[in-house]
Amino acid sequence: MVIGIIGAGASGMAAALAAAEEPANRVIIMERQARVGKKLSATGNGRCNLTNIHSDKMGYHGQDPEFVRPAMKAFDVQATMDWFLSLGLYTVVEDWGRVYPYSDQANSVVDVLRYALEKPNIQLLTGFEVQKVKKTEQGFRVEGMEDTVFCDKLIVACGGLAGTKLGGSMSGYKLLRSFGHKCTKLRPSLVQLKSSWPLCASLKGVRAQCKAEIFRDGVLHSWSDGELQFTEYGLSGPVIFEVSRDACQGGGDWVCRLDFLPGKEESWLRAQLLRRRETHWKAEDLLTGILHNRLGRVIVQSVGISGYVPIAQLEDEEIAAVCAAVKGFEVNLTEPMGMDSAQVTAGGIVTEEFDPATMESRIVPGLYACGEVLDIDGDCGGYNLQWAWSSGRAAGLHAGGKL
Ligand SMILES: Cc1cc2nc3c(=O)[nH]c(=O)nc-3n(C[C@H](O)[C@H](O)[C@H](O)COP(=O)(O)OP(=O)(O)OC[C@H]3O[C@@H](n4cnc5c(N)ncnc54)[C@H](O)[C@@H]3O)c2cc1C
Repeated sequence: MVIGIIGAGASGMAAALAAAEEPANRVIIMERQARVGKKLSATGNGRCNLTNIHSDKMGYHGQDPEFVRPAMKAFDVQATMDWFLSLGLYTVVEDWGRVYPYSDQANSVVDVLRYALEKPNIQLLTGFEVQKVKKTEQGFRVEGMEDTVFCDKLIVACGGLAGTKLGGSMSGYKLLRSFGHKCTKLRPSLVQLKSSWPLCASLKGVRAQCKAEIFRDGVLHSWSDGELQFTEYGLSGPVIFEVSRDACQGGGDWVCRLDFLPGKEESWLRAQLLRRRETHWKAEDLLTGILHNRLGRVIVQSVGISGYVPIAQLEDEEIAAVCAAVKGFEVNLTEPMGMDSAQVTAGGIVTEEFDPATMESRIVPGLYACGEVLDIDGDCGGYNLQWAWSSGRAAGLHAGGKL
């Protein structure tokens, strides 16, 4: 049997290796870029957070998040780590259950997959951008700019629209829609959020541990804790990615409230700051040694205290105002950054049109889809790649007739 796979990203490579486990199968992967796994090599800030040990307990979104369950059960986190070890990749578990290659290099993940694809029954066609797909009597006709591939089964593993500079595109959605599949609204997720707060830019590059709560018209939309990073345009970092899904969508006033000392009560902070009245320090140093210097100064300034006043001269109310700002600093939000900056696409091809155990289309027999092109997106921390591995493997095994 000939199995065609469109896309040699995370899910496409997992599908190819699964389909090729049956030696009688011939697997043809078509990849429009010059090399495989281009996006994969940029994941996790170049370290590739390839799974999360908590992803079996969910952390997925879409119209039907339960859709992920059968594939994730059949190829769970442990099976994924064992599979990577069998390919030659040694992994480590870090904070929050995040799994990385021990080498700390995303390229190691791409390398072991690339080497594994070097099998007699796998043919890799790079620089092959699929333009059109058609169902034939025997199977599928897959047209590139110059060549045409015929296959019995076809797996669409084109990824989503997020990370456009790394290969994200509308291609997979268009190809699947040409078979009659429907697509939900696409939005950026795991993305930076923009703010018009003028002091944001002055904090560019500052990182802080915090609890972030997002409010729409005063109603809590989402919250998380972890690392925040200020950027020229607004807020970034894992804690913001976690709360970014659907933030600033659909109108209303959006605000991010930041608690820069989530592990401490306001009374503890007040006691520390009141003791500083015995020093010769200036107000701009009120939070020195507790928060990043630049952040501390901006917080003091934000409650209207001049940085040059000696701390000894500050009123109780002024110190209380600084404490309140540290525990609940509000930054307005305007919009998410675009798809080019997003790590994942929220929305995609409607999952109820696919069998969750096999990833086969319920509209076109012999057609499969896996990975981000489907209406599934995961939390920050390795969830999206785990979905790519699990769904890719399910599609490959079933298209390849191994199950
Ligand atoms: C900067 C960044 C960092 C990220 N970090 C993490 C992380 O640390 N952990 C995590 O879990 N997730 C992370 N993600 C998300 C994760 O990379 C994706 O969810 C995952 O790669 C999706 O896998 P996929 O196989 O569906 O798509 P992709 O990996 O995007 O692969 C799709 C492939 O299909 C090819 N293709 C598309 N259209 C065609 C066509 N018409 N013809 C031929 N080929 C085509 C593309 O060139 C691409 O190679 C990150 C994403 C980005 C952008």
